[in-house]
Amino acid sequence: MDPEQEPAPTLCARCVKELTPGRSEFYVVEIQAKADPTPPVLDVADMSRDYKTEINALVAELENVTPQIQRLTIHLCMACYAGWIEKPAG
Ligand SMILES: [Zn+2]
Repeated sequence: MDPEQEPAPTLCARCVKELTPGRSEFYVVEIQAKADPTPPVLDVADMSRDYKTEINALVAELENVTPQIQRLTIHLCMACYAGWIEKPAG
C-alpha cells in the first residue's frame, strides 16, 4: 500500500475536466436547499372544537414541516462557472 496515494482528482461537475487545486482554475460552489421553514398557521379559534384531534393534527403537521436541508458542494471550472452563474437554475 502506498501511503502517498493521491486523493481522487477534482473534476468539474459539468464538463468533467480535471481541476488542479492551487491554480485558481475552478470555483467551489456550495448549494444549500431548504424546504419552506415557515411553521403552519395556527388559528386559535379553531382550537375550541376538539382539542385532542386538533393537537394531534398539529403535531403531525409540525413533524412534516421540520426544515429539510440539503447541502451539495460541486466544483466548476472557470468556463463552466461563468455559464452557470448567469443562469444557476437554467
Ligand atoms: Zn467545466
